[in-house]
Amino acid sequence: MSDCLFCKIIAGEIPSAKVYEDESILAFRDIAPQAATHILVVPKAHIPSVDGVTAENSAIVAHIFEVIPAIAAAEKLTGGYRVVSNCGADAGQTVPHLHFHILGGQTLNPQMA
Ligand code: 5GP
Ligand code: ZN
Repeated sequence: MSDCLFCKIIAGEIPSAKVYEDESILAFRDIAPQAATHILVVPKAHIPSVDGVTAENSAIVAHIFEVIPAIAAAEKLTGGYRVVSNCGADAGQTVPHLHFHILGGQTLNPQMA
């Protein structure tokens, strides 16, 4: 997707503060952090949102969730952390490329909605 912000970050066309990368996923720091530690984890393949996860591409989601604990450990989120994926307008999704927020490094607001 040539007009997708996160595809441009993945392609290196827009700089990002990378924290993890392998052949299929990228993790980088959110440009407007909402917690002491705020990282975004994205598949390199363009999937618009959680609504775009299918039997054919769900292995990438499993891989992301295998890597998230390693990122959390590297970031020393020993007290815990939150994983969030906003899907669609009601959830406030602003970038239509599947991403998982990792939020931590502090006590988080218990309110979820
Ligand atoms: P959403 O609101 O779609 O769940 O999350 C999108 C996130 O992307 C937001 O937290 C926003 O701060 C972050 N973001 C938007 N543009 C950029 C950017 O250019 N670079 C980085 N690193 N994060 C961005
Ligand atoms: Zn994309």
